[in-house]
Amino acid sequence: MDEQAMAAVYATLDRMHAWRGWHWWPDGDPFEVCVGAILVQNTSWMNVERALTRLREAGALDFRAMARLVLAELEELVRPSGQYRQKAKKLRAFIDTAEREGGFERLLALEMGVLRQRLLDTWGIGPETADCIVCYASGQPALVVDTYTARLFTRLGHGPGGAGYEAWQRWMLDRLPTDRETYARLHALIVLHCKHLCRKRAPRCTECGFRETCAFRRANGLKGGSIDG
Ligand code: SF4
Repeated sequence: MDEQAMAAVYATLDRMHAWRGWHWWPDGDPFEVCVGAILVQNTSWMNVERALTRLREAGALDFRAMARLVLAELEELVRPSGQYRQKAKKLRAFIDTAEREGGFERLLALEMGVLRQRLLDTWGIGPETADCIVCYASGQPALVVDTYTARLFTRLGHGPGGAGYEAWQRWMLDRLPTDRETYARLHALIVLHCKHLCRKRAPRCTECGFRETCAFRRANGLKGGSIDG
């Protein structure tokens, strides 16, 4: 797949899903993005929304307010997001990282390479969460990749194979212009596509703009079985 083909995938995704709502689209509140990026680990966005609502109602969806909470209070507020004890500790670790940098705004203002490393050095933050924060909270050009990215491009018949996060990210970046807006929208569009059409089981291929060229669709069509939900 070359840059032109990647641009065509982007355009097709945009045609199919640009109208849909997405939680960080076009620009979310930076602190809420960071909290959401940590809470969404191993759970659905619906559960994250419930935890965010509790935090908001308690006046704790704010860096300084959250920093004042004792761990037990934070645990109780994020309980709907699952693994709430771990998630509260992760939020506390994130707050500690920000405080070491002189505050939340100063942390987000770091150059993206430095910011990403500070985040990766924080307990409970891996590459996907770090890139979410760099892209959607600090507004710098980091591309988030995830299992949805791998599912879509593997089904289309492209990608670096069964490699991990860094390999998928490198493969995508090599085919995209360096542009934060493109990265932010593309990840959102891929998530929307995989949630609504290219689902893990029973993808809705008849409604999909890739149905004529998709390798997965063709392979399943050749077997004579329906893969439409
Ligand atoms: S045609 Fe089906 S398998 Fe291929 S990308 Fe579309 S929904 Fe996914």
